[in-house]
Amino acid sequence: MSSDISTNPFADDRLREECGIFGIWGKPEAAAFVVLGLHALQHRGQEASGIVSFDGERFYMERREGLVGDQFSVGGPIDRIKGANAIGHVRYSTTGGSLNRNIQPFFADVADGGIAVAHNGNLTNAHALRKRLVRSGSIFYSTSDTECIVHLIATSSAGRIVDRLIDALKQVEGAYSLVCLTRKKLIGVRDPLGVRPLVIGRLEGAYVLASETCALDIIGAEFVRDVKPGEMVVISDSGIESYQPFPPQRPRFCIFEYVYFARPDSMIDGLGVYAVRKSIGSELALEAPVDADMVVPVPDSGVPAGIGYAETSKIPFELGIIRNHYVGRTFIEPSDHIRHLGVKLKHNANRARLKGKRVVLVDDSIVRGTTSKKIVKMVRDAGATEVHMRIAGPPTTDSCFYGVDTPEKSNLLAANYTIAEMCRFIGADSLSFISINGLYRALHQTRRDGKTTRYCDACFTGEYPTPLSDRDNVADNGQLTLLAM
Ligand code: AMP
Repeated sequence: MSSDISTNPFADDRLREECGIFGIWGKPEAAAFVVLGLHALQHRGQEASGIVSFDGERFYMERREGLVGDQFSVGGPIDRIKGANAIGHVRYSTTGGSLNRNIQPFFADVADGGIAVAHNGNLTNAHALRKRLVRSGSIFYSTSDTECIVHLIATSSAGRIVDRLIDALKQVEGAYSLVCLTRKKLIGVRDPLGVRPLVIGRLEGAYVLASETCALDIIGAEFVRDVKPGEMVVISDSGIESYQPFPPQRPRFCIFEYVYFARPDSMIDGLGVYAVRKSIGSELALEAPVDADMVVPVPDSGVPAGIGYAETSKIPFELGIIRNHYVGRTFIEPSDHIRHLGVKLKHNANRARLKGKRVVLVDDSIVRGTTSKKIVKMVRDAGATEVHMRIAGPPTTDSCFYGVDTPEKSNLLAANYTIAEMCRFIGADSLSFISINGLYRALHQTRRDGKTTRYCDACFTGEYPTPLSDRDNVADNGQLTLLAM
């Protein structure tokens, strides 16, 4: 086939997505709450959003490109999504043309009734599953890995829809936090390693599921607990039930959620994200001290670590770079050309503060190096006499296959250059990253080198906690080899 759908999914970034999910059961005008929840999760995906609701009679679905607040206003589509039960999804993917077809939630009528599925994460055997499903007659509508789950539910021989979902999930590999809506249930589930977050909340008798606690806060919902790794919670009018359908495994939550991805005001697994980032900054100050006049964070992502660095180093913290909040994240602009432009649009040097000063710049990560290079130059152009870059994550040496968008390894600066070479590339006087052990110390954990840890840190270590079946079946010529079935 010539279409991109059935060829190599690693030829571009299309199937790698960053997402946020939200669900609510038992609250009139549920869609309005979903809009608020998705708005709080907008940092997890800015390209598209969708909502599916059920009002006791029928399902309603609206899926749009663009920011939640722009697309789901009162008096617009939100009024058409009726009922007291609803789920929603925000997504970002570096997609080409077929964006619309990939907007979630996905909905399907299966034997036991309709089901809508919203997924955060990424399956690592989606291509193999898809080939098998297509050969046995499934007709795919999107290029998304999530649609495999829907087809596996549809083709399961189990009876009840919950059992069909369990049956489906036993066949997938990789990372998933899901919220699903049926006529009678709201279901939340995390993969056995718990790579992506999912929390349970309550709002005046209604149940809420959300990627992060900041989405509970926005609607005044009370935090109940995290969904456990490998746990499935089934919410209905008779309350909440918990299942553990998978054999227990050591959890491997994504450490990058703490470093960058989650919102700083969220709590994950009992730890405040802001506090962790501040501790990383403190550890970084101990590991990589420098004589300087001021600590300047790259806003917003470098701010908590910058505060931690300044506190521990006793060097004054200054807002030497001001961020314009009316542009999206530079990282996600579609082309290199615009990405370069984006950095200029987003950050400006606070010249009066920087002139004649020795500056420690703090950011969370260097991916391609585009941001750091621009920022260092900008700070120098504003008159700083020295610029020392400190990074609050270890070098990003490996791609994520579990739902955080990262470029291919060949485009990761740290995968291809030494730290000294990277320092020259970004034009800094010195460059240091937090060590992997320093990062674990900030999380009150120890990483025993070479041994399994309680986090997935594959982007920093290359130690992937699940099989990467699809990647490993890509032959040298970039084509997928035929899988034995
Ligand atoms: P780069 O310019 O390619 O080196 O990207 C680094 C910048 O992008 C840093 O300022 C990070 O805050 C941000 N960043 C890192 N990882 C991601 C990601 N997965 N999605 C969006 N932004 C990111």
